[in-house]
Amino acid sequence: MNKLLNMTLLATALVISMSSCSPKVEKNPFMEAFNTPEGAPAFDQIKFKDYEPAFKAGIEEQNRNIDSITSNTANPTFENTIAALDDSSPILSRVAGVFYNLTGSDTNEEMTALEATLAPVMAEHGDNIRLNEKLYIRVAAVYSQRNELELTSEQMRLLEDTFKSFVRSGAALNEADKTQLRKIHSQLATLTTTFSNNLLKEVNRFQLIVKDSARLSGIPAWLVEAAATEAVKDSLPGAWVFTLQTSNRIPILQYADDRAIRQEMYEAYTTKGNHNDELDNKKILHDIICLRLEKAKLLGFNSYADYVLDDNMAKTPEAAMNLLTQVWDYALPKAKEECKALQVLMDRDYKGQEIAAWDWWYYTEKLRAEKYALNEDDLKPYLTLDNVRDGAFMCAHELYGINIEPAMDIPVYTDGVDAYRVKDADGSLLGVFYTDYFPRAGKRGGAWMNNFRDQKKGVRPIIVNVCSMTPAVGDKPSMLSIDEVETIFHEFGHALHGLLSQCDYAGTSGTSVARDFVELPSQINEHWALNPTVLKMYAKNYMTGEVIPDSLIAKIESTHGFNQGFNVTELIAASILDMKLHMLTDTSNLDIEAFEKETMNGIGLISAIAPRYRLTYFNHIMGGYDAGYYAYTWAKVLDCDAFASFEKNGIFDQATATSFRKNILEKGNSEDQMTLFKRFKGSEPDVEPMLRMTGLK
Ligand SMILES: [Zn+2]
Repeated sequence: MNKLLNMTLLATALVISMSSCSPKVEKNPFMEAFNTPEGAPAFDQIKFKDYEPAFKAGIEEQNRNIDSITSNTANPTFENTIAALDDSSPILSRVAGVFYNLTGSDTNEEMTALEATLAPVMAEHGDNIRLNEKLYIRVAAVYSQRNELELTSEQMRLLEDTFKSFVRSGAALNEADKTQLRKIHSQLATLTTTFSNNLLKEVNRFQLIVKDSARLSGIPAWLVEAAATEAVKDSLPGAWVFTLQTSNRIPILQYADDRAIRQEMYEAYTTKGNHNDELDNKKILHDIICLRLEKAKLLGFNSYADYVLDDNMAKTPEAAMNLLTQVWDYALPKAKEECKALQVLMDRDYKGQEIAAWDWWYYTEKLRAEKYALNEDDLKPYLTLDNVRDGAFMCAHELYGINIEPAMDIPVYTDGVDAYRVKDADGSLLGVFYTDYFPRAGKRGGAWMNNFRDQKKGVRPIIVNVCSMTPAVGDKPSMLSIDEVETIFHEFGHALHGLLSQCDYAGTSGTSVARDFVELPSQINEHWALNPTVLKMYAKNYMTGEVIPDSLIAKIESTHGFNQGFNVTELIAASILDMKLHMLTDTSNLDIEAFEKETMNGIGLISAIAPRYRLTYFNHIMGGYDAGYYAYTWAKVLDCDAFASFEKNGIFDQATATSFRKNILEKGNSEDQMTLFKRFKGSEPDVEPMLRMTGLK
């Protein structure tokens, strides 16, 4: 608290010295709108020392603005309360927009240290707003008159969401319950962190040691080499040490001819957090589930799943379970068929033995090689990063008429980042878009879209796509795998959701939608990535300019649906595990191991497949996907059903594209998401297209 106060005073001092116009004092670029083309972040002026004072000044500014809301003597209205709150943090939005982007994509030690310093300060600032009783009373007053206020549908949505977020944070509770809720939050924070840290330690302490080179048969040479290096590091020269990292585990499961090696790797992975030792997660998860249920009950819900789903498109755990069960009924039989096909291959090697879970990947690769003979290296010269990016841009142009132009005058945060102006068909500016496609030290793994500036009335958004694609080597350009091609289209789909947004308020604009809706614009965009018509538009050999031949396109098409029974089965099994665990209304007899066993037996999961995550290492449900792992399947149903309209009317049909833009991409969270979907599709989401497109039916 004292620290916060001191920093706030420091920030105030800085503001005062700025306004004295002394030429010696450098301006903090976050204190006012950036003086750059399109108001993009002034990366050429921002220095590390600017962040901390800007955060402090931003927090102070927002506190001042909230004070003026709560001390307003006029009656609470939408404008003087809800809209004012939506617009209460100009400085903080500017600095947080830049800082939390760069801590993911271009960080260093001092940024990481500042991030840790700011974490409790920002958490406290958030609590101070959500548990501000005077503010809650005004929000609730506006909410109670909502039907008399003649609000637009977007204003109504912002009002409802604002009210709900206060209630969900405990603002309506009495003091004793508020204290209890704070206690639960703090215990949960510790337990979930310990759960995740235990898993890191489990991975780090595991070694699969091989001393006999004959046992290395089948394992890719690059991995054998890495394992030899690892062994030297671990003082085991002459041996090979494999780790439990995905980059080791999957190739071992796919290619190691030695069945015992596969089994050891598989069992190490599937027993993470379940060794009845100091890293065991069963008791921790048990306590987390109990605390979450207690929280849900404090807030007036029957179960924690009810609490989570109340804020999502699916609305109830039953609706989510209904969808999961529908897909399960097709996925499991398909997986059983796949298992039989793998058994045929296994019989050649081990007559009379049944296929086990650690054999699945291995025989799947054998089957893939026999059946398709698709070598990704043949495709790569057609799939350079420049080609694929241009392909994603061309599709957006064909669909929505937009143009994406390089913007050399807009500053970028580091080398390798490109800036673009995105313009509508009439030439007006839709937003600024950065691409940051290659790995660097200081960038975390994975791929994502983020905002530097939110869209709202009169303000266009500033959006980035960050990935870690295969870089160029020597004189060869960056060439992508099929997965990477789909990732470029996926992230660009999120970017379109941000760039095309036409909302009035930052709180409702762009991608600020429910967890089970947010992947619709991104996943639907993947459907264009490998479409034959689209491939012919962008996939040209970088050396000869030759358009991708039909024979290669046919090979890509033929792999459709391969191993999908397995993929969907393990995904749905984990989703059901998560949902059922969080649907419990009584945890007094909860035994984590027994619960998992009963739940999986209950749905008939076969022994050759485990849930994608077993409970003791289901890190997604520590935060973000708790009672939410179903969202991947939910969104898949939405994107396939929505794409079915393009299939039917033409993948570049203008009426369909315009409807998707107007009803989904422009709307953000400005209306109920099921209403938006139905306005585009004409009906509630149908699971059939998803079953067909994934090859399950
Ligand atoms: Zn996504």
